[in-house]
Amino acid sequence: MSIIVQKFGGSSVADKEKLMNVANIISKTYDEGNQVVVVVSAQGKTTDSLVKKAEEITNMPNKREMDVLLSTGEQITISLLAMTLQQMGKKAISFTGWQIPIITDENNGNAKIKYIDDKTIKNKLDEGYIVIVAGFQGIDEECNITTLGRGGSDTTAVALSVALKADKCEIYTDVDGVFTCDPRIVKNVQKIDEITYDDMLELASSGAKVLHNRCVEIAKKYNVEVDVKSSMEEGTGTVVKDGSYLEDMVIRGVAKQDNIARIAIFGVENKLGKTYEIFNMLAKENISVDIITQPSGEHFQKDIFFTTSLNNLKKALEILKANKELIGAKEILHREDLSKVSVIGVGMTNRPGVAAKMFEALYENNINMHMVTTSEVKISVLVNKEDADMAVRAIHEKFFN
Ligand code: ADP
Ligand code: ASP
Ligand code: MG
Repeated sequence: MSIIVQKFGGSSVADKEKLMNVANIISKTYDEGNQVVVVVSAQGKTTDSLVKKAEEITNMPNKREMDVLLSTGEQITISLLAMTLQQMGKKAISFTGWQIPIITDENNGNAKIKYIDDKTIKNKLDEGYIVIVAGFQGIDEECNITTLGRGGSDTTAVALSVALKADKCEIYTDVDGVFTCDPRIVKNVQKIDEITYDDMLELASSGAKVLHNRCVEIAKKYNVEVDVKSSMEEGTGTVVKDGSYLEDMVIRGVAKQDNIARIAIFGVENKLGKTYEIFNMLAKENISVDIITQPSGEHFQKDIFFTTSLNNLKKALEILKANKELIGAKEILHREDLSKVSVIGVGMTNRPGVAAKMFEALYENNINMHMVTTSEVKISVLVNKEDADMAVRAIHEKFFN
């Protein structure tokens, strides 16, 4: 008997009708003679409204309590879906992350899965149950509830596929698969039938939230094929799998990431080790940084620019301002209204035209770039948030039409 893991995202389980639709997909798979493990997200925008509730109380919520709060969203869905399946005459049982248990590290809000005990699920599958697991959550070794970061239910699904040695991992969502760009921003996007782990990882970590980037990392590490498809319409989606391309360069897609802040540290003492000191301070507080530029310093001073996600901004500024003297910085400024737009594709560095084409699209639309980075697989530019969608459309048009 095959084990199939099916994950359904927030919009696919948003109300009673959607739950019925999902229950039909699950039942069909079960009736075909498979053992089915289902992972679900919180309904609709539930997680966003839970975040808002916390923000009404404080703008710096305690991370442990935030996870206790956010994990409740998925708990609602698992119970409602189990009831829906039971109404249809199916044996179904739901579990939260801690009941399985899904053991994570203690990094509240962005926890990593360390281990999944497969016994509870396996026993229930053998008893003929459809097993429903709450996505996005786990428990650390001190019994604190943790969450895996926004969009983390995808990661739960792939990690469960690994733990259960599942035969199939299907991620059902509100679009037909992975496209060359977010279909909500660009009209004439193209569906990608097959995409390699590496390209998908670049797309996901550049903001294509159709898959959580850590789910792709795990899929790659354990070679799990992931099928991304629509929960609303039958048909083939996108298969994320191992592989390489015959051509030496393929532009895979365009992605956008909002909520980026840029910090500029001016007049840092031009002394060996100062840059290390700054980024070490931030790393110790778990603040990840993305683009960094540091023009070679003139005389005794240098300026350092870097980006981080908006939710890290407050903490990063606090740390830097508290250590201004130590760093030897004259001024620390920031901007918080930025987005990153990226073009993704393998073998870019061998093709000088790619960057020029991207910049041409921005120039033609009067869009100013604040920062640029390039790598073997990606070119990213930082633009004002209000220009970002236009930038995405213009760049997509250049490469895909
Ligand atoms: P779910 O609730 O099912 O997890 P998400 O909202 O997290 O769904 O992810 C699906 C959304 O991802 C789509 O509605 C789409 O707007 C967005 N998206 C961004 N980039 C892409 C892309 N390249 N291909 C497909 N969808 C994308
Ligand atoms: N409910 C969580 C979120 O909205 C996790 C998920 O949907 O994957 O981020
Ligand atoms: Mg998602």
